[in-house]
Amino acid sequence: MSNKEIPYKIYLEESEMPKAWYNLRADMKNKPAPLLDPQTHQPMKAEALSGVFCEELIKQELDDTTPYIEIPEAIRSFYKMYRPSPLVRAYCLEEKLQTPAKIYYKFEGNNTSGSHKLNSAIAQAYYAKEQGLKGVTTETGAGQWGTALSMACSYFGLDCRVHMVKVSYEQKPFRREVMRTYGASVTPSPSMDTEVGRKILAEHPGTTGSLGCAISEAVEEATKLDGYRYVLGSVLNQVMLHQSVIGLETKTALDKYGIKPDIIIGCAGGGSNLGGLIAPFMGEKIRSEADYRIIAVEPSSCPSFTRGKYVYDYCDTGMVCPLSKMYTLGSGFIPSASHAGGLRYHGMNSTLSQLYADGLMEAISVAQTEVFEAAELFARVEGILPAPESSHAIRIAINEAMKCKETGEEKTIVFGLTGTGYFDMYAYEKFHNGQMDNYVPTDDEIELALKKLPNVEE
Ligand SMILES: *Cc1c(COP(=O)(O)O)cnc(C)c1O
Repeated sequence: MSNKEIPYKIYLEESEMPKAWYNLRADMKNKPAPLLDPQTHQPMKAEALSGVFCEELIKQELDDTTPYIEIPEAIRSFYKMYRPSPLVRAYCLEEKLQTPAKIYYKFEGNNTSGSHKLNSAIAQAYYAKEQGLKGVTTETGAGQWGTALSMACSYFGLDCRVHMVKVSYEQKPFRREVMRTYGASVTPSPSMDTEVGRKILAEHPGTTGSLGCAISEAVEEATKLDGYRYVLGSVLNQVMLHQSVIGLETKTALDKYGIKPDIIIGCAGGGSNLGGLIAPFMGEKIRSEADYRIIAVEPSSCPSFTRGKYVYDYCDTGMVCPLSKMYTLGSGFIPSASHAGGLRYHGMNSTLSQLYADGLMEAISVAQTEVFEAAELFARVEGILPAPESSHAIRIAINEAMKCKETGEEKTIVFGLTGTGYFDMYAYEKFHNGQMDNYVPTDDEIELALKKLPNVEE
């Protein structure tokens, strides 16, 4: 089929939307390492997790064997309000770059929360409601997850309590107000409301907070409040499972036109969008049915894959969550204050970590000014104002397309455009004013944060 016949946007019919999520772990030969109890270092059992997490979500978290898990009807109806999301052929970007590469992006920013996070938020809220809970607690960094969860909770009539990293709480007052519009309560983290918050504030007065710290506060609150559980917007395998809807739709859309991607690119914070986008493709790769180059892109100021260690670590600063084996910079690692591009989590999803350790995917880190240059170029030619996080993927998609220009290869590149950047104008402003620096942590800084790893025998 010639290029001309491929539309700018490939949409799917409602009937073509996935009816089940795909659990990539079922097809992996080397399974991700199990979560461990932070005290005993023994693998976590479902009962031990049930005080913190919702029951059905725990089942999904621990399920390494069921390849397809049906999407409940109520979630499928909610998905229909904003999905299927378009797979866009970036004709304008190709033209601008004068590249023979064919570039596609899967755009997940077409909902009020502005990102892919709604795909998992609605699933998690659904299972909390089914369990008869009153509400959920969570953390949010940049604010997209908190927004998505507040939308999902208001849909199902659940209370939503969000601990928002203090620096974002102050820099992004509008994000906070969107959450409150949907009925969530929002507290800056660390706060004096939790034991762990008080402890962190005593040790680090004036700290602007971190995701790891906000997680500890949200977990503490969930265990202390009757009828509440804690939910998380990234990192966990259940989140990656829900996000497989991105990859499944992408695959169906590409298959409709007989398109085989050569390179699949996604930004990596905790790994959920990347894991979701690549899931069906990685499945084919593992089953030796197809081969793809798969690239994770992370900020050079928070380089978990490219400079972290593959070990068991705490998922949160307060060390209350289960231990996860993952590429990590240490749970005390906090990216430099000058870092504005999101993706600031110290660790990585355990499934992606195992795939990376097995050489099934690549990772690359990029400096933030390069990311914003790509963001601006993309906005000007494709129209969409991208989130800084998503722009990490744009950067590498452009770099790969430019390599094709040199070699004349007509590669097909697919990348995940996870969201829009309307609430990130403070970061764009810094970029426009030439005030953005590319601070990269030194080996000593990373080594120092890695000194506090838990002592797990393997
Ligand atoms: C949260 C977020 C990310 C990073 O999270 P992952 O779990 O790594 O996908 C990327 N892009 C946007 C727009 C986000 O909101």
